[in-house]
Amino acid sequence: MNSLFYERHQCPVCGNKTSDLAFKISYSSQELKDYFHSFYAGRVDNGLLDGAEFNIQECSSCKVLYQKFIPNEELSRILYEDWVDPTETSIQKIQNYGIDHYEFNASEIRQLFSLFDIPSGKLNVLDFGMGWGAWAKMASAYGAQTYGYDFSEKRNSHAQNHGFTILDSEEIKLKKFDLINTEQVFEHIPNPLETMEILSNSLSQKGIIKISVPHAFNFKSRLKKIEWATSQKFSNRSINPVAPLEHLNFFNRSAVVNLGYKFGLKEIKIPLRTQYSLSSNFFNKPKSLLRFLFRPFMRNYFYNYILLKKL
Ligand SMILES: [Zn+2]
Repeated sequence: MNSLFYERHQCPVCGNKTSDLAFKISYSSQELKDYFHSFYAGRVDNGLLDGAEFNIQECSSCKVLYQKFIPNEELSRILYEDWVDPTETSIQKIQNYGIDHYEFNASEIRQLFSLFDIPSGKLNVLDFGMGWGAWAKMASAYGAQTYGYDFSEKRNSHAQNHGFTILDSEEIKLKKFDLINTEQVFEHIPNPLETMEILSNSLSQKGIIKISVPHAFNFKSRLKKIEWATSQKFSNRSINPVAPLEHLNFFNRSAVVNLGYKFGLKEIKIPLRTQYSLSSNFFNKPKSLLRFLFRPFMRNYFYNYILLKKL
């Protein structure tokens, strides 16, 4: 066994102790070595992964798929500081964002803010897992007092340089937020139960937390025919929903809803009419028009895009 990994003995989402093996392969296998080399552009030190097993379990109760052996604190630091997108690459990526990228965040924020009966200038917002801060910047542009948190120190200092207040987990516990945004974050979290407890306690009265995590139809059957080439990241044969090292949990809607329920939160949906009226920029390409038409239904009923409100 590799000491940079530790074993999970129960479902990280519902706490159930029984599970079934859904998939396994050694981190020393050629498939995984090739995958890492391509996915992290040669930045991975394979020696640090030798002896570990990539093992996916399916919880027999909530049906969440989760990685059984996950990186410890030390390996997580190396992963998120050095292997995942380095600062320079990310800054270049941000500089290349077009107007669509900003409009996408803007319309989502308008929809979310419309759920509150207080002015957006009085909202306290936490972007939990803020990355390079694009969403937080837009939330600030709409008037909210916006705070950030990220696991990566590099991203935190980038956000701080852009004027954001960064909170650590102890400071989060001392504040109350009307809205907590978690966009593609919970799949990375070693202990979603613990994190959800902290975040739900930090919600103001009638506060809302958004949990948006990867979605894939019929993913279990995909595990039999995985294509390891990462150029296929969004194909229906990609390992991405349970990406080794990073996507430690693969949720389904009801598992997320039940996780919220445990901490006194109830699912709410943004009315379809609100979603349509507060979306924009959909006429420029036929593809955008289709997305515009389907996204509200998909978000409300199929995607792992869930809003949980304090009762
Ligand atoms: Zn479970």
